[in-house]
Amino acid sequence: MSKVRHEGTTPELAVCSALDKLGVSFETSVRGLPGTPDILVRALNVPIFVHGCFWHRHASCRLASTPTRNASYWQRKFSENIARDERKIQDLVRLGYQSITIWQCQTKQPEYLLEILRDALSRKDEN
Ligand SMILES: [Zn+2]
Repeated sequence: MSKVRHEGTTPELAVCSALDKLGVSFETSVRGLPGTPDILVRALNVPIFVHGCFWHRHASCRLASTPTRNASYWQRKFSENIARDERKIQDLVRLGYQSITIWQCQTKQPEYLLEILRDALSRKDEN
């Protein structure tokens, strides 16, 4: 199976530009961490995953519909994705990283995205 390239997708670019606006420095294409997070705010040890709502099953999101054809195939596929995401988050926790997940639909509203990131990162700051 060919590996999906995540680098430079539109939702990711939106998150990068929001971090820029917040004056937070970050790295992309992070190697050497479990699950290769999309973005890492190294100063705060916060990996950020930018997830597509459909593939990663954003709960009660209208973008996370289930195709009616081959429904059981999709269900299996989706549960695998969810399990994999959960594993990545747990692997990071074991190494002392509390990650943030940003959903594709959240990146479509720049002001809202700024708010989510500001909020999430300021909470890490206090720890
Ligand atoms: Zn969503």
